[in-house]
Amino acid sequence: MVSRVIPVEPFDLVIFGGTGDLARRKILPGLFRRFRAGQMTPDSRIIGAARAPLDADAYREMIRQGIEEFGGPESKDSESLAAFLDRLDYVSVDATVEEGWPRLAALMRDGVVRAFYFSVAPSLFGPLAEKLHEHAIADVDSRIVVEKPFGRDLESARALNRTLAEYFREEQIYRIDHYLGKETVQNLMAVRFGNLLFEPLWNNHYVDHIQITVAETVGVEGRGGYYDKSGAMRDMVQNHLMQLLCLIAMEPPSRFEAGAVRDEKLKVIRALQPVPVHHIVRGQYDAGDGHPSYREEAGNPRSFTESFIAIRAEIANWRWAGVPFYLRTGKKLKARHSEIAVVFKDLPHTIFEGDHARHRNILSIRLQPNEGIDLTVTIKEPGPGGMRLIDVPLDMTFSEALGQEGQDVPDAYERLIMDVIRGNQTLFMRGDEVEAAWAWTDPLIAGWEARNDVPKLYDPGSTGPDDALMLLHREGRRWREIKA
Ligand code: NAD
Repeated sequence: MVSRVIPVEPFDLVIFGGTGDLARRKILPGLFRRFRAGQMTPDSRIIGAARAPLDADAYREMIRQGIEEFGGPESKDSESLAAFLDRLDYVSVDATVEEGWPRLAALMRDGVVRAFYFSVAPSLFGPLAEKLHEHAIADVDSRIVVEKPFGRDLESARALNRTLAEYFREEQIYRIDHYLGKETVQNLMAVRFGNLLFEPLWNNHYVDHIQITVAETVGVEGRGGYYDKSGAMRDMVQNHLMQLLCLIAMEPPSRFEAGAVRDEKLKVIRALQPVPVHHIVRGQYDAGDGHPSYREEAGNPRSFTESFIAIRAEIANWRWAGVPFYLRTGKKLKARHSEIAVVFKDLPHTIFEGDHARHRNILSIRLQPNEGIDLTVTIKEPGPGGMRLIDVPLDMTFSEALGQEGQDVPDAYERLIMDVIRGNQTLFMRGDEVEAAWAWTDPLIAGWEARNDVPKLYDPGSTGPDDALMLLHREGRRWREIKA
């Protein structure tokens, strides 16, 4: 089965921070793949905008190298790469000075979608918005895309929302969380809301608990300075893990449409209970096996910042009362592994003699590696010898059935950028959602700061501190394995 690619409207996409790491590694290689797939019309353009005094040719060369390094096998197609690079232009601008802006204004065309990707430090969001307005570069239908982090607490997120609102309507602002652009995350919604089978079981009568794990093997590396002021809670939980939790826990929206979906997500965040101290475990990786410790990497020998966090959260509504949501994320862990697992309750009674094993249905949504969804079901072990039961995973991504094996599924960034051009905000965070998420995390952070909480050390390559295991063990549960 061949997937249908519908070209988007012609656009002028300006990437502020167009020479930066994110632009070279993710945004432009992603756009190149959409170009190759035929989704970008030939009259669409991408304009890099950053401080470096480059001309368009030098910029194209920089991006060619970026795509060759990060763009995957498609980048070997030098003909289409050259055609893509032809769509690129470059303007040298500084968000804080006047120079360059009139040239950018002169480049913008009428009658095409105008989108502006703010791939720069958040402190520049306000000055950029102001410049776009001052020089009449953005029109009433233009879209802006803003990267994380969106604030570092409720107060700063509110200030950022207020600043952007001075120049743009909410319908023009696309706050990106690339987890929402992942194929499997969207498939989760298709599985939940496109089948009769799951929704009747999707509640505290049938679900024992839910686990959300985002495990990384990398440490903070070159980002130590930034990360040390942030930590796992701000860097991962407040945005990515909470977004995943929303999609799992939300009520069925009336339509798959931005307003309806985001209203339901907001209700989940607002229903999250405050978390008691003993339901939070913070960790920090130690040195080991030739690896430096977090403190060494962050360059802060007295750092109390967490590189790991596990939280037992609860949602106070009729659907989820009493169902724990265990969230955990950390760096320098055993494997790179992200998964949401919906663990269903035990059977009320077993009819099979001699079967003492605990058979549970588990719906597992894997984000990385090997994106996919499977459902653990219990069946009879094939062959003679009586009724022996085994648990097997039922692959629900059906890549073979759909003939998609090896097919190029758009990655999160490319899909989301195309949604910006299409004007579809469903997979982006609304301002009130981001503020509500900070309103839940702020008191937890304030609590451990007031207690001078020292994170528990854990070995690099482990599953995090032992206390995180205890969070589940003391309730008779266990974490799912972190495996590559
Ligand atoms: P970077 O430091 O590699 O690049 C910064 C870019 O901003 C450069 O192009 C630079 O020229 C431009 N810039 C700096 N000051 C400017 C000014 N005054 N006026 C105009 N342009 C200016 O940063 P990055 O890693 O590409 O990250 C960009 C943004 O994306 C940040 O907000 C970051 O938090 C976020 N982000 C990055 C990643 C990543 O993997 N790199 C992931 C998620 C979010």
